[in-house]
Amino acid sequence: MGTFIRNVRRIGPSSSTIDLRFEGDHIASLSPSESAVQAGDIELDGKGKLAISGFVNAHTHLAMVLFRGLADDVPLQVWLEEHVWPIEQQLQPQDVYWCTLLGIAEGIRSGTTAFIDMYFHCDQVARAVEESGVRALLSYGMIAPSLEDRGTAELATSKAFVKGWHGQADGRIQVALSPHSIYTCGEDVWRKAIELAHELGTPLHTHVSETRSEVDDWKVRTGMTPVRYLQSIDAFSVPMLAAHCVHVDKDDIAILADHPVTVAHCPKSNAKLGSGIAPVPAMKQAGVRVAIGTDGAASNNRLDMVEELRVTWMLQRALHEDPTYLVSQDVVAMAIDAGRSIIGLPEKGLSEGAPADLVLFDTDRIHTTPPHNMAAMLAYAANSGDVTDVYVDGKALLKDGELRTIDEERVKSEVRSLLHRIKNR
Ligand SMILES: [Zn+2]
Repeated sequence: MGTFIRNVRRIGPSSSTIDLRFEGDHIASLSPSESAVQAGDIELDGKGKLAISGFVNAHTHLAMVLFRGLADDVPLQVWLEEHVWPIEQQLQPQDVYWCTLLGIAEGIRSGTTAFIDMYFHCDQVARAVEESGVRALLSYGMIAPSLEDRGTAELATSKAFVKGWHGQADGRIQVALSPHSIYTCGEDVWRKAIELAHELGTPLHTHVSETRSEVDDWKVRTGMTPVRYLQSIDAFSVPMLAAHCVHVDKDDIAILADHPVTVAHCPKSNAKLGSGIAPVPAMKQAGVRVAIGTDGAASNNRLDMVEELRVTWMLQRALHEDPTYLVSQDVVAMAIDAGRSIIGLPEKGLSEGAPADLVLFDTDRIHTTPPHNMAAMLAYAANSGDVTDVYVDGKALLKDGELRTIDEERVKSEVRSLLHRIKNR
């Protein structure tokens, strides 16, 4: 017994519709004839809907929804030292669970089926992923000046998390190792983390060349850009998710292209924090795999992948004064396909045998009428309110606009009350 969706649109001309059948956790067939409906199948009418395989939010800190709107317009250091860190220090493991669930709920509502997340109290992050039914690549964000100063303990915490959660939740949970950045982790910590990544077979997930000052400082300290420095310590010898890469030069880009690196482009976060605009067209042209992430809600303030992909092409075209940059198919592929391989998914989502991670958009709205081309509709006109249904591994997480695995009201109320508790301590 499976689910059969008839006459649903997919990326391409609006006239191209398919029948799609999934069974258990995988896609059983695409474009079958009517005879592919099997006895006991749930039959759904896909007329007026678009099916995609779900966005991969390639870099986020889900639990940071707690900091949404807390202090938006201050310099980074003030924001961290006076607002974020004092609250983060008071967070209990259970708080991270509720905040992560809120972030996941927001992501599902914008058509996200997979998250690449870095935070702490990761057992709670993993619990939220397991219970909500989404897919994720999770890591514990290590901050350690040296092995002696916190490093050994941070690596042990990371290792325990990797061993405890890799492949859990029927394989929906994958794990990575995360030295937070080159400027928050010492070189000995980095070298151990790389060694451990080889030993455990996990990717690395870190922040790279986010701000101009990071790059300038690093050149003064080491004579190298962050990317060249990472190459010099062999950090690209394992698959890496490199968040941001805003300030990368031609040589950096060549290095990124030559190694198994997925760049997580976070345009709204980079704009909000005044960090700059990443050279996405140059990276793509050089062959770098570039995915899209929201970063945490503190620096966004949304976890809305539809909005994120729209901002991606908008910024590049305005910056380069060229309307041919990042056409709709490219930017849609960045948001859907580019983040898949690092979390172990097959390259193409809508294909037979692939996990049944599906998102349905209503294309029959005022702002999406008439529908000429589905990639253009998604990139230029759609919004997250058009998402009606979300499935991961064939299980409905959102059905006709209703969250099925998360009690939305309860989660909002828990997050409001924990913020109240922390602020009034
Ligand atoms: Zn980040």
